[in-house]
Amino acid sequence: MTHNKIELNLAAELVKTATDITEWFRLKGFESFQKEDESPVTLADYASQLFIVKKLREKFPNDQIIAEESYNSHIDINVQKIIKRCYRSLELDLIEDFERILNYRGPYSPRQWTVDPIDGTKGFQKNLTYAIGIGFMINSELIAAAIGVPNYNEKGRALFIAEKNQGTRVSYGEEDFIPISVTDKKNIKKANMCHSLHYDEPWVMEFAEIAEVSNYIQMDSMAKFCMVADGTADLYIKPMDENRSFSWDFLPGILIVNEAGGIVSDLKGNNIKFNNEKCIITAPGLVASNGFLHEEILKYLKDIDFY
Ligand SMILES: [Mg+2]
Repeated sequence: MTHNKIELNLAAELVKTATDITEWFRLKGFESFQKEDESPVTLADYASQLFIVKKLREKFPNDQIIAEESYNSHIDINVQKIIKRCYRSLELDLIEDFERILNYRGPYSPRQWTVDPIDGTKGFQKNLTYAIGIGFMINSELIAAAIGVPNYNEKGRALFIAEKNQGTRVSYGEEDFIPISVTDKKNIKKANMCHSLHYDEPWVMEFAEIAEVSNYIQMDSMAKFCMVADGTADLYIKPMDENRSFSWDFLPGILIVNEAGGIVSDLKGNNIKFNNEKCIITAPGLVASNGFLHEEILKYLKDIDFY
């Protein structure tokens, strides 16, 4: 029993059930809303976060929770009824106080959870790839993470979990958890590169041309980190906007790649650090790789004008 096994197991259990919730909504095809920053949010985002936050609060009432969504006027009586219907059909405890739970962040604590109830909402809306991510840090140090990806591959849902110094494991479909590691590919021309479907910048493909990368996997969500971790891909390049780079988007994926033996850094090669809900970066993007390719990638990135 390692030190943070309880947190890791809880995160795994919660992302698993959260994928049942989001899939219930995806298959029923409910409407979406636009947030103030014009990014989309769906009923499934709220239903997933409500479930995760309620359970985290019950188990660790003294921990802080950094969650993406908050209560707003979209969540009227009808929306609440639909969420209750979903919970009832999945035999989950019903929620009464939607506003209090959605807005719950807990007391200030060095123990902090990050919750992304749906990452890749655009992918979710288009029946493409999306993910659910939970991260756990103590004093801003990454300790545990879980990512659930419905429809990850031909086996269906994949659950990725990582704990500091304990490696990364995955369960594909309903199979047992197995350890995974990054590839040992050293030739960048033969590498598979993940990049974003809806939030890419032109410099990412400029990089790919300079590096002569020839295979691409373009998709939404933090599932791209999982693809580097399990060797489906060898590298992942992601633009980041320092004003909109949140811990819930990056913490789980970074630990999952690191513990699978890979490296994640910003575009200048510096570690990405966390300060409550923000990621601290020294350049506007990140590189996740199998480690072997990392220096070469950073070398090519030096020639790129990111803006
Ligand atoms: Mg989200």
